[in-house]
Amino acid sequence: MSEVVSLGQPTVGEEELEAVSRVFASGWLSGAGPACRAFEEQLAATVGTQHALATSNCGAALHLGLDVLGAGPGDEVIVGDYTFPATGHSVMWTGATPVFADVRPDIWSADPASVESLVTERTVGILAVDVFGQPADYDELRAIADRHGLWLMEDAACSAGATYKGRPAGSLADVATFSFHGRKGITAGEGGALTTDDPELAARARKLHTYGIEPALTREGARELPVPSFDEAGYNYRLSDVAAAIMSVQLRRLPDLLAARRRVAGLYGELLGDLELVTLPVALPDREHPWQSYVVALDGSLDRGAVATALREQGVQCNFGTYASHVQPVYGSTRHLPVSADLFARHLAIPMHANLRDDEVERVADTLRRVVTSSAATR
Ligand SMILES: *Cc1c(COP(=O)(O)O)cnc(C)c1O
Repeated sequence: MSEVVSLGQPTVGEEELEAVSRVFASGWLSGAGPACRAFEEQLAATVGTQHALATSNCGAALHLGLDVLGAGPGDEVIVGDYTFPATGHSVMWTGATPVFADVRPDIWSADPASVESLVTERTVGILAVDVFGQPADYDELRAIADRHGLWLMEDAACSAGATYKGRPAGSLADVATFSFHGRKGITAGEGGALTTDDPELAARARKLHTYGIEPALTREGARELPVPSFDEAGYNYRLSDVAAAIMSVQLRRLPDLLAARRRVAGLYGELLGDLELVTLPVALPDREHPWQSYVVALDGSLDRGAVATALREQGVQCNFGTYASHVQPVYGSTRHLPVSADLFARHLAIPMHANLRDDEVERVADTLRRVVTSSAATR
């Protein structure tokens, strides 16, 4: 049998290795060092924000962002429901309560009407998710935030390279957060970042991400002996300089990596567009989809588990999409969000990464077509 087509794969190689060896030679391997600063400047320039802060992962960046925006016990934060657990969890880490909003059936991000219906006097902010990287409705969400005096945050974990009405993801809210986990479009294995235009939020996040100490880099080279004192219990959310050096290369390669994913998405569209039992993902014309994942919806008459098993048996990796948050016991939500629950039940992620060859994409499409058609016939 031919080799397995993997669901996701990082695209890293010689250039990244060379960047790592330069960090080794420099001697500064720990976090918040020169390689982090260089990456932060590059990221801010790419995203078009005044400030960027490299963090250990996106969960850390989400926590920092919520923290500096002031979320805390007694507060409610409205969160797009269809997302990875990091989004809702990070609200809980601050002591605030995540209030989940149902999502648009086409692009799966928070439905602005649902968001507005959930605003109470305890609401302090909106945390929108760019689902699989495609930006949410920031114009509508900003208008709601302004009407009710709320802040707006963007979970841009999957969105590197995406745009909304020509504006880059990461610049679409008061604070945005990226992930550089191995399953994302650009990666250092693990990693994250926070971006913002607000100098005070950026400075507080920077201090909190290194235990509440003024960063060592700002003390480096001082002639005296500056001894910091602590007025806040910060965290260790630093990205190592080893990872930051990898990220600088990945960010430089982002246009090529995006083009490769876009090409795969285009091929899937051509090969699967006529398959009635499968709904393909929608990429809206006013935003650039970075295709962190390629997720299709199976017709409700199909048994998703059986389809997934058959695909895997034939060497095609697949997975569910992401999670409906409101059904997760940890959040204790009693609301029913029908759109998100339906996506959670019917979505299937099929292979999407920048290393996929055309023949692999064709094999995935052929296999999916055969499996879906035969499993429909047996029901
Ligand atoms: C992957 C992901 C995260 C978490 O990223 P980490 O870097 O693993 O913490 C958060 N939100 C969304 C939407 C994600 O897809």
